[in-house]
Amino acid sequence: SRFEDLNLSPELMKGLYVEMKFEKPSKIQAISLPMIMTPPHKNLIAQAHNGSGKTTCFVLGMLSRVDVNIKQPQALCICPTRELANQNVEVLQKMGKFSGITAEVGVPGTSRDVRKEPVTAQVVIGTPGTLKKWISFKRLSLAHLKILVFDEADHMLATDGFRDDSLKIMKDIKSVNQNFQVLLFSATFNDVVKDFVTRTVKDPNQLFV
Ligand code: AMP
Repeated sequence: SRFEDLNLSPELMKGLYVEMKFEKPSKIQAISLPMIMTPPHKNLIAQAHNGSGKTTCFVLGMLSRVDVNIKQPQALCICPTRELANQNVEVLQKMGKFSGITAEVGVPGTSRDVRKEPVTAQVVIGTPGTLKKWISFKRLSLAHLKILVFDEADHMLATDGFRDDSLKIMKDIKSVNQNFQVLLFSATFNDVVKDFVTRTVKDPNQLFV
């Protein structure tokens, strides 16, 4: 399979080839990207280990769903650590370099954390507690959200506080927006992850590699 088959914009193709220097999709990308990008944009849960190329699946998924003309958050990615959130923002900014799409990291201790004006970045990637706080302070609007990603869900759900924050974020989104896609990536699907999926991810495609 080829990236050409995915109907990506020329800007995102350039990001993949020129910035990332990727030649062709990895196995998980070849299987998941058509599922993620093709209408009706079904929810997806995928078993993915580090090194499988999972980051590209959800980064490209987010970039391909954003309308660059709408200066509102349209994609949200929830990560278990601030390091992972920062790393994912870096990948997204690199891959999206030619797209004009803006991104912001939502982790504790940033300048945004003390600023009150609304987030206008089109992609927001952060940790559960900070994102929950921004939502409750109306700093982060959910009305234009098209895609929500959980990265390393098993790692995140191992912390009770992060599980509760994630459930709250889900609930807040659903109260203003009924039409968003959920992607959940996890290395393992233990009972905690399965329970979370049952409660939050409706009728997903399932990918176990
Ligand atoms: P990940 O599993 O997302 O952390 O990716 C692992 C590594 O594989 C990263 O260094 C990526 O840059 C690289 N990678 C991901 N997708 C591809 C691809 N299609 N071609 C070449 N390298 C890739």
